[in-house]
Amino acid sequence: MKALVYHGPGQKSLEDMPKPALLEATDALVRITKTTLCGTDLHILKGDVPTVGAGRILGHEGIGVIEATGDSVTRFHPGDRVIVSCITACGKCEYCRRGMCSHCEKGGWILGNTIDGTQAEFVRVPWADTSLHLIPEGSDDEAMVMLSDILPTGYECGVLNGCVKPGDTVAIIGAGPIGLAALLTAKFYAPADIIMIDQDDHRLDVAKKLGATRLINNGDGKAMIKIMTMTYGRGVDVAIEAVGIPATFDLCQSIIAPGGHIANVGVHGESVPLHLETLWSQNITITTRLVDAVTTPLLLKTVMAGRLLPKQLISHRFPLSEVMNAYDTFANAAREKALKIILTNEPPAP
Ligand SMILES: [Zn+2]
Ligand SMILES: [Zn+2]
Repeated sequence: MKALVYHGPGQKSLEDMPKPALLEATDALVRITKTTLCGTDLHILKGDVPTVGAGRILGHEGIGVIEATGDSVTRFHPGDRVIVSCITACGKCEYCRRGMCSHCEKGGWILGNTIDGTQAEFVRVPWADTSLHLIPEGSDDEAMVMLSDILPTGYECGVLNGCVKPGDTVAIIGAGPIGLAALLTAKFYAPADIIMIDQDDHRLDVAKKLGATRLINNGDGKAMIKIMTMTYGRGVDVAIEAVGIPATFDLCQSIIAPGGHIANVGVHGESVPLHLETLWSQNITITTRLVDAVTTPLLLKTVMAGRLLPKQLISHRFPLSEVMNAYDTFANAAREKALKIILTNEPPAP
């Protein structure tokens, strides 16, 4: 089968790889129909995620059709259409039972990390009963792909950890797919203001269409002053960091109001100074989280009800066979006006 294989920092290729087989009774084999690229995959390719070894098939998002199931899988059957969650959950360990499936003792974020992932024609999904979601009749396939990772990540790591409340002033630093997913799901709570900060006017335009109330292009490095002016010197109640570099986390620290919440979502590859010399007395909370994907059923319902329209986050479409071009487009997101890129795996000829 065709698959996108990582060969160390900066190196990847589309290759023929052996089709995966069921290894455990709790596994399912899924024929991928649509998958996508993630900012996390770019971090892997930068060398920021050392757990990913050479030879690994990347990808942790996608939807597909069950091809085969192990003997102890009871909730899914061959032919079922499913969402593959970016988080694999055994459902039984202490972390899973606390709802912290990201740290599942036998799973967590393993797809496209420590086991082969979804940027391939087929993927083996461990703990299928508790790691897949059935796709309802009448759904839009492309919208379903957004439920693998970015919607639960934006919602759980950004909005829930940031404790967004009615009337809050929320700043989202980074208007990429994850920042925009945080924007879409922050609106559940009717904050007064959602300020989007990015250096890309196209992304800010998209944010405006999706409901951001104020936009700041930080190309001039003056976002802090602009936000303090907008908030009458008070700062923001919630700062969601959706980039993953020191400068953006530092901006969160400089704009947070007393009592506020800094919710980190970005994948960081280097250390960031923590300004306790100013923050120690400010009653703020800083949270970090790897998505647990425990809100996927809730988000699926809101998508099916038409209250959440994640398809707006999709900018490009390629066949899986053109995944290398898709990576080039995604890596030059500003030039290409790229957000989420859908890769389609055509069904085999009858
Ligand atoms: Zn992802
Ligand atoms: Zn577990």
